[in-house]
Amino acid sequence: MTTKSFLTGEPPENAVLLFNGKDLSNWDSRKGGPARWDVTDGGITVVPGTGDIISHEKFTDFFLHLEFMEPDMPEATGQAKGNSGVYLQGRYEIQVLDSYGIEPPGRGDCGAIYDQFAPLVNACKPALQWQTYDVVFRATRVDESGNVIEQARITVFHNGIVIHNNVQVLGPTGGALDQNVAEPGPLLLQDHGNLVKYRNIWIVPLPLKGADKY
Ligand code: MG
Repeated sequence: MTTKSFLTGEPPENAVLLFNGKDLSNWDSRKGGPARWDVTDGGITVVPGTGDIISHEKFTDFFLHLEFMEPDMPEATGQAKGNSGVYLQGRYEIQVLDSYGIEPPGRGDCGAIYDQFAPLVNACKPALQWQTYDVVFRATRVDESGNVIEQARITVFHNGIVIHNNVQVLGPTGGALDQNVAEPGPLLLQDHGNLVKYRNIWIVPLPLKGADKY
C-alpha cells in the first residue's frame, strides 16, 4: 500500500495531516456541523447528500499531497462518472472524475482546473486504483487596496506526471466557497453524489517569499 508522494516520500515533519486515517476530526461539513463522510480502511468515502467537506485549517501558499480512488461506474459517462473535486483554498477545483482513456482530456475531465484549463495529458488510472495528486499552489496576490495583481498559480502532478505547469487561474471556479481570494482558505473535497474515496491528505504550508539577502 503506497503512502508516499513520489516527490517527497513520507510527509515531512512540518506537514499538516488533514486526514489521520481514523476520523474526520479535522473536517466540517460545508452545510454546517461535523463532516459526515464514511471512514473505512484508512480512507474517506463520499456519503452522497451530506455535502462537501472543509478542512478546519486554512492555507495561503502550499504543497498538497492526496490520493483518490474512482468508483467503478461502467454505465456512467461524462460528468456523472465518479465526480468529485479538490478545491484549493475552497476556491479552485482540480476535477476528480473517471476520465480513464479519454483523449484528449477536456476542461471538465479529471485533472482539469475546472472549466478553465484541461490537463496537459491524460494521466488517469482506471477506476478502483489509487491515484495521486501533488499540487503546488501559489495564492492570489493583491495590492494594498485589495486589487488582484497576480492570479493564483497552480502546478499539478497526477500520478507523478505534470498536468499543469504553473498555470495562472482565471479566478475561482464554479462552486467556490467564496470569492475572498486575498484570504487564506481551507481544502474542500466535493460531494458530487458519487462514491469517490480519499486518503493520505496532507499539506505543507509554504513561505510567501524567500529572503532578499544576497
Ligand atoms: Mg467535480
